[in-house]
Amino acid sequence: MKFDLLKECAGAKRIAISGHQKPDGDCVGACLAVWHYLKQNLEGAEVLVFLEEPDPVFAELCGYDEIIHDFPDQEPFDVFIILDCNLERTGLAAKYANGAGKVINVDHHITNANGCGDLNYVDPKVGAACELIYDLVEADRMDVETAKAIYVGMVHDTGVFQYENTTPETLRKAAHLISYGFDFYRIIQETFYQKTYLQAQIMGRALMESVRFMDGRCVVSVIDRKTMDFYGVTTRDFEGIVNQLRNIKGISCAIFMYETGTLEYKVSLRTDQKVDAAKVAAYFGGGGHARAAGCTMKGTFHDCVNNLSAEIEKQLI
Ligand code: AMP
Ligand code: MN
Ligand code: MN
Repeated sequence: MKFDLLKECAGAKRIAISGHQKPDGDCVGACLAVWHYLKQNLEGAEVLVFLEEPDPVFAELCGYDEIIHDFPDQEPFDVFIILDCNLERTGLAAKYANGAGKVINVDHHITNANGCGDLNYVDPKVGAACELIYDLVEADRMDVETAKAIYVGMVHDTGVFQYENTTPETLRKAAHLISYGFDFYRIIQETFYQKTYLQAQIMGRALMESVRFMDGRCVVSVIDRKTMDFYGVTTRDFEGIVNQLRNIKGISCAIFMYETGTLEYKVSLRTDQKVDAAKVAAYFGGGGHARAAGCTMKGTFHDCVNNLSAEIEKQLI
């Protein structure tokens, strides 16, 4: 249910904010939007953001340099705000829920439909957690930095207002946000489309080595540790590869995997209307949205693909 974020945090002396591991644009935007908004409007409160190190493309968002990347032990917080995920996906930040006066959860993952806080604003129909943050801030207290951070999150989770999670309401909010006058065209280019040469190379390689299966309705590509070391890339450099695989004509389900450890892979799924990606990912202990979801799987690459195929096939027949 919608609430007034400032009222809910009124009187709090120490507030912690966190989002999911491997934070994406929506997660970083949501955390920094809330951080800036609360700093601006809650006098005397200490507001801290705990997140794994985000991609440096987001460095221009206000508060990026203030993000705490390790997760030191802390006295209990008055309020702990969990954005764009459930408690479990905050990883090492999950401990800040212990003893917290109040836990607030704002999310849009269908696999967290009930929320994990004392106070929840969760709507799986909405394209970005940042779109929900927009609802929680008072319009006359929004400034350009809050607007920019919210906009970045909406851009990233809607694929620049292209995916079907984009609604008239999304665009109305975006229209209002760009009226604050930040250079949105540059931000979209630099945070969403632009790739480093290395990122372009690894994407090229992933596309070239991709394999179609199930009569060309699915495609999979994998990057192993050896290849990551060879190119000197980190997992952040894989952003966008799975979306590119989904763009292939005839594909209902695109899968991108990378090796996270011995016989362990992080799996990203992107689908069309025929396949519910969240359902497939949830079966393997992950989650996400209908068209975009992820999970971690154990086994050899072929085991993982076989197991995924079996689940996808149930929906594609
Ligand atoms: P990814 O393919 O990892 O970029 O994730 C696609 C979408 O699924 C994003 O909205 C993620 O937040 C979500 N997602 C990925 N992995 C998980 C997971 N293990 N549990 C819940 N949601 C996930
Ligand atoms: Mn996210
Ligand atoms: Mn999101």
